[in-house]
Amino acid sequence: MRKPPRDLDAIFHERHDEVFEEVDCLDCAHCCRTTSPIFKVRDIERISKSLRMKIGAFSRKYLKMDDEGDWVLQKSPCSFLDEGTNSCTIYDVRPQACVEYPHTDRKQMSGILAITEENAHVCPAVSSMVQKILEAGGGKK
Ligand code: SF4
Ligand code: SF4
Repeated sequence: MRKPPRDLDAIFHERHDEVFEEVDCLDCAHCCRTTSPIFKVRDIERISKSLRMKIGAFSRKYLKMDDEGDWVLQKSPCSFLDEGTNSCTIYDVRPQACVEYPHTDRKQMSGILAITEENAHVCPAVSSMVQKILEAGGGKK
């Protein structure tokens, strides 16, 4: 397998900005409908506080532990998605994983290429980025 180019971060970040100029997540919400973010403890604390719920009650109502020991949503679409408008009803306190999704503007993209490939099946923006990069020669200048 060919090694990723050294400037892979810059290549992804450029495509990320370009694609998200065109893509409006409020027209999509496919990630919120089909996959669950991981809820870290600080996410659970912040969200349950904003909903005026006890952490235990919040967790019992919305979360389950997956096979890797991470807290994830019990159901999809996400309980916090307004399916009529595709908006997040806890937007200001949403999990950090939601803030960062689809992770294509982060550093060291070479370390998450397998996840990015999976995300390309969920997120049309990632799919478009990957397609553009491959069409340009996989990052070769
Ligand atoms: S918390 Fe909000 S942004 Fe995150 S999956 Fe649910 S609806 Fe989407
Ligand atoms: S799947 Fe991608 S394009 Fe669609 S809402 Fe999620 S981040 Fe935005």
